[in-house]
Amino acid sequence: MAHPLEALLVLQEKDRKIAKLQREIRDIPARKAEVETQLEQAKMKLAAAREEQMQIQSDLKQLEIEVESHKEKITRYKNQQMEAKTNEQYRALLIEVSTEEKGISELEDRELELMEKLETSKKAIEVREAELAEEEDGIRDEQEMLMERLEEVKEDLAAVIEKRAKMAGEVEPSLLTRYERVFANKGDFAVVRVENGHCRGCNMKLPPQVINDAINPAKLVGCNYCGRMLVNI
Ligand SMILES: [Zn+2]
Repeated sequence: MAHPLEALLVLQEKDRKIAKLQREIRDIPARKAEVETQLEQAKMKLAAAREEQMQIQSDLKQLEIEVESHKEKITRYKNQQMEAKTNEQYRALLIEVSTEEKGISELEDRELELMEKLETSKKAIEVREAELAEEEDGIRDEQEMLMERLEEVKEDLAAVIEKRAKMAGEVEPSLLTRYERVFANKGDFAVVRVENGHCRGCNMKLPPQVINDAINPAKLVGCNYCGRMLVNI
């Protein structure tokens, strides 16, 4: 007589496979979301780099406007110089012109700094664009792969569930109920083998009587410690 728990060991393999496939199905959307987050981050970095460039360009325009305003003042002071009535007036206007020129020179220094920043920013944008393109390619591949995997897993799962149902139909109902209750409760194994006098489920040393009973197909014994069903074959 075959030990009734032997059939359950095979059924248990199916249940473990079902649990594994269900976990994978649950994890795929999370992986997809993770991949999408990476893409979003690459997009945000590029947008930030472009915004920085626009800011530099706008600062440069502002500087040009300021330079123009200084130049207009210089023209005005020079015209006034030609109409100056006294040396004092003339010298005062000279000082004004020189102040404006100094202002222009300072603005031009800042302009040079900004031009350098603009160059750096252009290069940064190129790098970000390349990164994003790469990310987009990678993501397309990965999303496709994940969707294919999801379909595969769903098919596998359906097949295993069908096989499992056939097997379960051949198990004595009260035994099946007991097995299912322990399996749901433990989450990993409901039926375990005795190994060197120990329960393989919880690794506790079993009493000799339990070890003996676990050989007997007519007896159903459970581990005193973890409650898993024991088979000693
Ligand atoms: Zn145990």
